[in-house]
Amino acid sequence: MRAGSAGRADQPDAGEAPEGVGSDLFGELARMVAALSEVQGLRSFTLPYPGLAQRALDHTVMRCLEAGESPPRSLPELWEWCRTRPSDDSLFAVPSSLVSPGTTLVHRVGRMPTRSCLEVASHGPGGGVAAHARALLGDLHARSGTEERYRQCRAFLARHPVVQQQDRFAPGWNRAVWSRVKNLYGPLPEFLLVDGDFLYCPSCRLPALPRDSAVPVPGPSGTGAEVWCEGEDCPRDAPPRLIREPDQAWILQRSLRWYLVLPHRTDEAAREALERAEVAYETLPGLLPAYRLWDTGPRIVDIQVYDRLQPALLAAHLTDNTPLADRTLVVVPDALAGRDGYRQAFTDALPALLRDRLVLTTPMDLVPDLGQARREEKDDA
Ligand SMILES: [Zn+2]
Repeated sequence: MRAGSAGRADQPDAGEAPEGVGSDLFGELARMVAALSEVQGLRSFTLPYPGLAQRALDHTVMRCLEAGESPPRSLPELWEWCRTRPSDDSLFAVPSSLVSPGTTLVHRVGRMPTRSCLEVASHGPGGGVAAHARALLGDLHARSGTEERYRQCRAFLARHPVVQQQDRFAPGWNRAVWSRVKNLYGPLPEFLLVDGDFLYCPSCRLPALPRDSAVPVPGPSGTGAEVWCEGEDCPRDAPPRLIREPDQAWILQRSLRWYLVLPHRTDEAAREALERAEVAYETLPGLLPAYRLWDTGPRIVDIQVYDRLQPALLAAHLTDNTPLADRTLVVVPDALAGRDGYRQAFTDALPALLRDRLVLTTPMDLVPDLGQARREEKDDA
């Protein structure tokens, strides 16, 4: 894993990994965790391991030998490492300008890939989970025929990470939309079931697991009532809900849960803010929801919405896919932008030329920031 042209790698201290070696290993492990966690029943934990897991294990062993540490002896042990060793561990020494210190690839409670893991995996070769989501949406876009039909399908996916048999008989069920999107759903995987039931979080509507239902890996397993949900950084304002007949339910592919369902709440909040303030806008064609404001004079002002935990990786993504508008407001959830260092890390990771063109904001700040942007446009004109 390398910083984009924008990233400024910190110099490692004496005794730490040579620059880039540990970061590359961290990126490789992120891709491994993301891929293996999709394998039903975790059969990949038995020998022989899948090629990508064996290579990641070999590379970790080599890195440990270089660093004079005792290496993991098996894939379950490596998985446990990914749960306990953070990005700033001396073995990885990922610069804080790329990944926030303390980031682990496997979640402490859920023992599933962290959101940061999927973000790191998407930053590397092949584009990871994000590239997978884009490919699925690109295909849906092509099959939908018209932009309007595609938007209907996309809105359905964002609102329905899980579909139950009974939903299909509820009022308002759109059979045409379902027939276009149902290939993006699959059976609930066994590793998301707890004693045969499926749990989901009512706040993010994504899968949830209590701590005790950990996947079969070694390591201490607490008895607390802690719960993990795929939204991870989630208000979780109510206990998880149960689906007792999981064979009568379908779940949206994970890449789309992460890419489309997670930012959906922020997207809705941003649109509500615009509508309350009677700001005129149009939805832009394209795979993800994005908006262009009206009445901005000769300058083009767009809005894009993201829910990403790693600000430098978001900046790198936007640098690689530079928005064409004169100014783009990049909306992230209020709670994220309020985190220590989030805004700074985002700005620091952008090339100087883009810093004026990209404004990081939140649904709450969107309308005030828009007013500010308009005043600046007028002053420049
Ligand atoms: Zn949640």
